[in-house]
Order: sequence, then structure tokens, then C-alpha cells
Amino acid sequence: MTPSRLVLAIAVLCTLSDNTQVSVTGWLILTGYALLHFGLLLAYPFKNCRACKGAGHHQSKFLRAYRTCHRCGGTGKTLRTGRKALNAATRVRRARRAAANHRRDQVNGGT
Ligand SMILES: [Zn+2]
Repeated sequence: MTPSRLVLAIAVLCTLSDNTQVSVTGWLILTGYALLHFGLLLAYPFKNCRACKGAGHHQSKFLRAYRTCHRCGGTGKTLRTGRKALNAATRVRRARRAAANHRRDQVNGGT
């Protein structure tokens, strides 16, 4: 278990406490953890590819030939899961806004 996950587990356990002070501390830690995680997603949207470990290629065992990684397409990087969720939320928000603008234009007769 990584240290950050240990802190997360302790914070979740604190929120379950009957003691109000401990519970509030747990919620504060959870909020800080979420904000930190969100900031890291914005700062570092990519992580090393799991299949090639960031190399972008695989090497064959016998001929020592290289072939491009099929997961990352040779870049060695993939989007983090949280960043994929952020991008999906952005797409949904833009689509809803475009639909609202389209409806408004229909009501106003296109003027
Ligand atoms: Zn890869």
C-alpha cells in the first residue's frame, strides 16, 4: 500500500468516527486529498503506458527486433483515468451548451 493510499484509508476511517472532531478532521483530509488529486490531474494528465512501461515499443526475445506498442501507438504515454473522466465531462458540457444555443436560435428565428 502506497503512503497516499494509507492516508486516504485513515481519513475514510476518521470520517466514520462518532467523535465530531475526528470526523471533521477526516472530512478535511479527504477534501484536501481530492483537491490535490484534481490539481495533479490538471498538471500531469499523462502517465507511462502500462504495456511498454513508457518506452513506446516492445523488443522481441529472439531477433531483438522492435515493434511499436499497440496500446499507446509508440508514444509511451496514456491518459490517466481521472483525466479521461474530466475530458468526458467537458465533452458533455460543451454538447449541452451547443444544444441550448441551438434551441435558443430556433426560438429567436435564427436572428
Ligand atoms: Zn505503450
